[in-house]
Amino acid sequence: MEKSTLAYWQAQASELVIEGRAFINGAYTDAIAEQTFDCISPIDSRHLANIACCQSEDADVAVAAARAVFEQGSWSKLAPVKRKATLLKFADIIEQHQHELALLETLDMGKPISDAIHVDLAGTLRCIRWSAEAIDKVYDQVAPTASDDLGLVTHEPCGVVAAIVPWNFPLQMACWKLGPALAMGNSVVLKPSEKSPLTAIKLAALAIEAGIPAGVFNVLPGFGHEVGKALALHNDVDTLVFTGSTAVAKQLFVYAGQSNMKRVWTEAGGKSPNIIFADAPNLDDAAQAAAGAFCFNQGEVCTAGTRLLIEESIKDEFIEKVIAAVKSWQPGNPLDPNTNVGAIVDRAQFERVLSYIEKGKIQGAKLRCGGNATAPVADGFYIEPTVFDEVDNAMDIAQDEIFGSVLSVITFKTMAEAIAIANDTPYGLAAGIWTSNLSKAHQMSKAVRAGSVWVNQWDGGDMTAPFGGFKQSGNGRDKSLHAFSKYTEIKATWMKI
Ligand code: NAD
Repeated sequence: MEKSTLAYWQAQASELVIEGRAFINGAYTDAIAEQTFDCISPIDSRHLANIACCQSEDADVAVAAARAVFEQGSWSKLAPVKRKATLLKFADIIEQHQHELALLETLDMGKPISDAIHVDLAGTLRCIRWSAEAIDKVYDQVAPTASDDLGLVTHEPCGVVAAIVPWNFPLQMACWKLGPALAMGNSVVLKPSEKSPLTAIKLAALAIEAGIPAGVFNVLPGFGHEVGKALALHNDVDTLVFTGSTAVAKQLFVYAGQSNMKRVWTEAGGKSPNIIFADAPNLDDAAQAAAGAFCFNQGEVCTAGTRLLIEESIKDEFIEKVIAAVKSWQPGNPLDPNTNVGAIVDRAQFERVLSYIEKGKIQGAKLRCGGNATAPVADGFYIEPTVFDEVDNAMDIAQDEIFGSVLSVITFKTMAEAIAIANDTPYGLAAGIWTSNLSKAHQMSKAVRAGSVWVNQWDGGDMTAPFGGFKQSGNGRDKSLHAFSKYTEIKATWMKI
């Protein structure tokens, strides 16, 4: 059967054997309290698996295993070139299982199978390979000293890293942490989102198959306020890395302060402006990109371009182009390879998105398209991409991160006004700027407070570029060599010769 058919993926899905246990010290294990929770697919509400519901006692066991192997040194003290070879093998094994992993991702959180393969798995592989390749190319430093001293500046692994990740790109977000953390020799305890634990659970067994020693990579499925909180408060976790909402990110700093002052690095929310000037090089391309910017991954993207700022003189023309482009982003069966919009991750998120659509109407924004739940598959959670015009930046739909395909169109007259609106948000994750004027592009790029700025495109960049936020979108950076600094402590050794 062709991999490019719905029937193929439905058949694969019906044959899948899904693992739901935690993975600690090299083996699958039930939660100590033997509790589980249901894993339900948003595609059609089918029951996928019973998932181990880990608690603080499971965190204690996993952290102890991670610490023991770190001290023993079979990974942390390994020659970089050997860690590199093992991580490259890990990537090869992930690639061998990429279709199974992609299918698990689609079933678990509802994204289109094509995206799971071509975006999530491709990005995961690139991240692990890039991190592995970097290991034996990163040098330490010798300080400039008098001739009777030797000053060494060296980077050492932090020790035990806890990684808490979200559900929108479950495997890829996990690997943005895992790649550099393992590359630098740390042990990792990963807590996937309770809404999307399946790929993380599978990944752990592949790590063992690749030769990563038992205890170096552990996975604890469970709820944030239970096992997530336990890891964040744990006195033997050295570094906590997180991707998720700003509200939880803030809480993690509190937990670190209440416990051992572990290092905390967060990638949090966003409400990114996509700014269209009348002199954009090609308005058709800009409109296509503007539609993709808020429809891709059901709008469940931290960098989603959910505030579309249009220069007043082209507003009417441009919004028509965007509405036309949105017609090609309509929900379908996520298992169909032709689908580009899948299911919303679960009922709670589905209801949250619909409630914001209602708020937009009540607060006076003009609904231009979408706005309804739809049902390409019975018993699933699907919403039409929704465009609101005449939005004031103070409205809830323009201020809050909805995490669904709801676009707020706002107009501006001058560059100064565009900058003021773009920055009038607690977030600072990303921004798009469309103009043919090079000076304007540079001025805007400097003025907009965001970790990623894209000029005449949306979502540019790859593993070579750092990713993260200004303001309440987080601290620290994922991807690129900048990410590596989160996973090491710097030591200065000063020797008298
Ligand atoms: P969330 O903050 O609700 O959950 C993220 C993770 O934190 C989950 O694993 C959850 O179980 C855990 N958690 C929740 N409460 C916790 C607590 N008290 N202690 C410890 N852990 C806890 O976010 P989400 O709904 O899973 O994901 C959506 C959010 O993620 C959005 O805000 C989105 O912008 C953000 N996100 C950011 C980026 C980025 O790189 N900046 C990327 C993807 C998603």
